[in-house]
Amino acid sequence: MSEQPPEPTRDTDAEATPASPRVRVRRHADRAHYDRETVDAILDSALVCHLGVIVDGEPLVLPTGFGRVGDTVYLHGAAANRSLRAALDGACLTVTHLDGLVLARTLLNHSMNYRSVVVRGRGRLVTDARERLIAMRAIVEHAIPGRWDEARAPSDAELAMTAVIAIDLDQVSAKVRSGPPVDPEDDLGLPAWAGEVPLRLTADAPRPDPRLVGAVPEPLSVAGLRRRFASEPPAHD
Ligand SMILES: Cc1cc2nc3c(=O)[nH]c(=O)nc-3n(C[C@H](O)[C@H](O)[C@H](O)COP(=O)(O)OP(=O)(O)OC[C@H]3O[C@@H](n4cnc5c(N)ncnc54)[C@H](O)[C@@H]3O)c2cc1C
Repeated sequence: MSEQPPEPTRDTDAEATPASPRVRVRRHADRAHYDRETVDAILDSALVCHLGVIVDGEPLVLPTGFGRVGDTVYLHGAAANRSLRAALDGACLTVTHLDGLVLARTLLNHSMNYRSVVVRGRGRLVTDARERLIAMRAIVEHAIPGRWDEARAPSDAELAMTAVIAIDLDQVSAKVRSGPPVDPEDDLGLPAWAGEVPLRLTADAPRPDPRLVGAVPEPLSVAGLRRRFASEPPAHD
């Protein structure tokens, strides 16, 4: 059950242009990135994505966990999961990091700093037993590195109840905004405060399950989460 995911196979050269017009960022094209290094960094540091699909003729966007192995994003859910099934006909997957709120001198120039990725494509139902395990491991390890080997592996019955789909990272775009507000020169003298309020995800102290049996030490994965989501001390008291 500790099967290693395959090595990424993609070409690591940065791509400066979109794979197709459907993923070309038109609005604020200066914020667009199409290179996989940028895309992968945004995907890999996000805990959740939003999966957009058409269900019964209507758009539906649902948050869900995911994992990435090389050129593929994997999602899983109950075998009867409707949004995963619908993704086989077409899907748009998005990931967003909200890095800050940007306050301008003028209300219309308020903004947000962010890193986001949009993946467009069609899901593929993963039926191969080995790939399904690789995908499930990637999804677990994506959120909690090291966890796959710390807890009981899925049983055959649990695996049978689980659907796994794959979406290729072919039609993909990233968009990144950072920095201060952009006010018109004429408004720079206005007395309104302007600047950025940075935001980040932090972890509180872990709470052991009260029904833990015996003395179960805190695992390495939790120590890793503590480090990853540690809150920085404030710069000023
Ligand atoms: C936290 C956050 C807050 C935002 N707030 C606003 C807001 O208030 N108003 C606003 O107009 N926009 C906002 N945006 C930007 C928004 O996501 C769109 O980029 C923007 O609205 C342009 O839409 P459009 O339909 O003209 O896109 P187009 O540029 O026409 O989209 C074409 C293609 O570009 C790519 N693309 C577009 N947007 C993104 C993206 N964010 N990330 C990755 N790829 C992308 C997709 O592949 C898409 O198919 C925000 C984004 C984030 C992450």
